[in-house]
Amino acid sequence: MGYKFKDKEEFKEEFKTRIIAKYGRSIEQSHITEKYMVLGTMIRDYAAMNWKASKEEIAKKNEKQMYYFSMEFLVGRLLTNNLMNLGIYDIVKDGLNDLGIDINELEEMESDAGLGNGGLGRLAACFLDSLASLGYAGHGNCIRYEYGLFKQKIVDGKQVEVPDQWLKLGNVWEVRKPKHAVNVKFYGSVEMEMDIYGKAKINHVGAQIIRAVPYDMEVVGHNTNLTNTLRLWSAEPAEDASNSQEFGEYIRDVIAINQNVYPDDSTEAGRYLRLKQQYFFVSAGLTALIKAHLRVYDTLDNFAEKNAIQLNDTHPVLAIPELMRILMDDYLYEWDDAFRIVQEAVAYTNHTVLSEALEKWPVNMVRTLLPRIYMIIEEIDRRYCYDLNYKYYRSDLINSTRIIIDGQVHMANLAIIGSHSVNGVAALHTHILINDVFKNQYAIGPQKFNNKTNGITHRRWLVYSNPQLKALLDKTIGESYIEHPQDLEKLMNYVDDVQVQEEFLQVKLERKKILAAYIKEVTGIEVDVNSIFDVQAKRLHAYKRQLLNVMHIIYLYQKMKEDPNFRIFPRTFIFAAKAAPAYTFAKKVIQLIHAIAERVNNDPDISQYMKVVFIPNYGVSIAEILMNAADVSEQISTAGKEASGTGNMKFMMNGAITLGTLDGANVEIVDRVGYDNALIFGLKVEDVETMKRANSYNVWDYYNHIPHLKKIVDSFIDGTWSDNKDEFKIIYDELMFKNDEYFLLADFDAYQATQARIREHYKDRHHWARMCLVNIAKSGYFSSDRTIEEYARDIWHLNKITVK
Ligand SMILES: *Cc1c(COP(=O)(O)O)cnc(C)c1O
Repeated sequence: MGYKFKDKEEFKEEFKTRIIAKYGRSIEQSHITEKYMVLGTMIRDYAAMNWKASKEEIAKKNEKQMYYFSMEFLVGRLLTNNLMNLGIYDIVKDGLNDLGIDINELEEMESDAGLGNGGLGRLAACFLDSLASLGYAGHGNCIRYEYGLFKQKIVDGKQVEVPDQWLKLGNVWEVRKPKHAVNVKFYGSVEMEMDIYGKAKINHVGAQIIRAVPYDMEVVGHNTNLTNTLRLWSAEPAEDASNSQEFGEYIRDVIAINQNVYPDDSTEAGRYLRLKQQYFFVSAGLTALIKAHLRVYDTLDNFAEKNAIQLNDTHPVLAIPELMRILMDDYLYEWDDAFRIVQEAVAYTNHTVLSEALEKWPVNMVRTLLPRIYMIIEEIDRRYCYDLNYKYYRSDLINSTRIIIDGQVHMANLAIIGSHSVNGVAALHTHILINDVFKNQYAIGPQKFNNKTNGITHRRWLVYSNPQLKALLDKTIGESYIEHPQDLEKLMNYVDDVQVQEEFLQVKLERKKILAAYIKEVTGIEVDVNSIFDVQAKRLHAYKRQLLNVMHIIYLYQKMKEDPNFRIFPRTFIFAAKAAPAYTFAKKVIQLIHAIAERVNNDPDISQYMKVVFIPNYGVSIAEILMNAADVSEQISTAGKEASGTGNMKFMMNGAITLGTLDGANVEIVDRVGYDNALIFGLKVEDVETMKRANSYNVWDYYNHIPHLKKIVDSFIDGTWSDNKDEFKIIYDELMFKNDEYFLLADFDAYQATQARIREHYKDRHHWARMCLVNIAKSGYFSSDRTIEEYARDIWHLNKITVK
C-alpha cells in the first residue's frame, strides 16, 4: 500500500488489482458502492505517503503546529476535493472512463460528512483546506458523530427529521488509531493528599472512565505535499472501567457520546450529554497533544511555543481548565507557570452576540460531571477577582466579567480570561463585541481583542464546484487566481467587455439549468431558467428573517391577484433551510413556505411570473450547486445579529448580487463592490439600538397604518394559507405579540422597494452582468486563504512548511 500511481495506466492496474483483492470480483461484477470505496481508499493511501512525510518534516524542523478545536467540521464530500487538490483528477477520471466507469457516478456515492450543522462548522472545514493549501501545520479535533444533525424530509409540506446515516458505507477517509487512545474521566470525586515533598497530590476517584479512540482523516492541501490531520474522537468502553455503574447503563452512556451532534437539550440528561461531549473531545485531544509534544521535546515548558490552540466558539472552552489540570496534576506545574502556558497557547473565536447562544452551565452540573475541572474553574475565577480587585477596586467590572456569576459558569468569560486572543468574525461583529457584548472585558484587556473576517475556500466554492466559471476566468485573466485569489481583481479590466459579459451570462445560464434539473428531480417543480433566481439558503432562524422574504412573496402574490395590470419580471424564489427539531416557529415557517408554494405554483394567473421552491435537506453538496446558480443572494438578517455569514461570500464569488442589510460581512462586501453593485436596505445597527433604547418601536403602528402590511399579516390567521385558521397562528403571535423582535415590519417597505429595483437592474442584461463580474472580481478578499494568513500572522505565529 501507499503506492503512488504515476499515470492513467498505472492507476487502472492498481484499481483493478484492488477490486479483486478486496471483493474477489472483476470490475464488471463489482457493485458501484464497491467501486466507490476502493477508489476512496486508493486516494487515501496515495495521500498517506505525503502524510508520513509531513509528520517527519514537522518533527525534524521542530515546527509549531496549530490545533483547531471545534464541535463541528462540516466538510462535505471529499473525493472530488482531494483528487483536485492532489492534481490527479483528470488521470483518475480518464482511467475510470477507460474501465467504463463514470467518475460522476462514484462522486455521487459519497455522503456529506455529518459532522456539523451550519456556518460555524463549514468555517472550520474551509480553514482546514486553507491551512493545508498554504503550507501551515494546522489540525482539527472533533467528535466522530455516528449520525449527522438529521436528514430533512418534507412530508405533507412539513419538515420531518430522519437519521442521517452518513457512515452507512463507512468513512473511506479515516484511519482508526487505537494506539493513540486515551481515557477520559467523568463524575466521581476528588481526594487530595500530601506527597513526601509536601505537595498536594490529586486523586480523582470513583470516576466513570470512557475510552477515547481517535480516527484520523487526512487533510489534503492544494498543490502541496503538506498533509494535515482531522482527528475525530470516538467513545468506547474502557478496559478498566471499574466504577459501580451497572454494565448496560455504562454502555448506553458510552454510545450516547458519539450518537449525535448537538443532542436535544430540552431535558437535563440532554444537557449533561452536551457538556460531556464537550469535555470528552477536548480532554482526549489535549491529552494526545501533550503526549505527542513529549515524544519530540523532553519538557512542556515550551508547549505554547510549539502548539497553538484555537477554540471555535465556546463549546471547546473546557480546554482551558483541562490543560491546567494536565499541567498541574499530571506534570506537577505550579499554578502560575501552568496558567502562563495556557494563556499563551489558547485563543478564542466568538461567533455570536445572541444572548441565548452565549453558553452558561449551572455550577452544579459542572461540579457533578467534572469535579476536578470545576475546582480549577473556581480557582481561576477566584484569582481573577483577587487580581482585579487589587488593580481597579471596581466591583462592577469584576461582577460582569468574572466566570462564576449567579450559580452559572460563563464560558465566554472563561475563554477571555484563559486566552491571549479573542477575535470576532467580521469587522462589524468585532466592533459590537468591543463596544457592547464584551465592553467590560475589553476595558480590562484591550490587547486581546482582534478581528478576523471569515472566509471561504475559493477552491471548493469556485474552482471545483463551478467549472464553467473557472473556464471563463482562466481564459480571461489566467489561472493565477487559483493560487492567489486576490488576483480575481484582474477581472475588473473586463467588467465592461461585452463579450465577457455575454460569456458570463452563458455560464450563469448553464448553472441555472443544472440547478433547475435538480429541483425538478427532488421536488417535481419546473422552473424557468430565464427567470431571476432569488435564493435564501441558510439555517432557519428568526433573526435570519426568512419570514421577511416570505412576506414579500405574499405581497407580490396578493398584488398580482388584486391588480391584473401589475405583473413582475419572472422570479423563482428558492429556499433551502433546516430548522432545529425543537424550534417550533422555524418549522412553521418551512410549512408556510410550502403552503405558499403549493398555491402560487399552481395558480395559472401567477405561476408564469413567480414560482416558490423549497429544496429539502440543505447541506454542503446542495450548496455547491445552489449558490452558483443564484442571481440574487438574500442576506437579510436584522442588523447586528448575523456575526459574519459565509453563505454571502459563496454567492458573491459566483456572481450573485447581494440583497442585504448592513450586517455581518455584508458590510465588507459593500465596502468592496460599492453601493452600485450590491442592493442594501433597511435599518442599521445604530437604528435598531436607538429604537430599542427609546422603546419606540410598536409593531401595531405599522400594522394599523400600512394597509398592505395588515393584509400580509392577516393572511397568517384568516385561512388564506390553510383551512385551519390556527395553523400559522404561531407566526402571527410571534410578530404581533412579541412586538416583532426582529423588526420585519419596520424593514418591509425598504425591502420591497429594493426588491423592485432588482427588476430594473436585471432588465438591462449587460448592466446586470457587469454588476456580477464586479462581485466576482472583488471576492478574492473573502477567500479563507486571506483569513488564515491573518490568523497565522497575528495569533498562531506559524511558519510555512515545504514537504518534499
Ligand atoms: C456556507 C454554509 C452555511 C452558512 O450560511 P450562512 O448564510 O452564512 O448562514 C450553512 N450551511 C451550509 C451547508 C453552508 O455551506
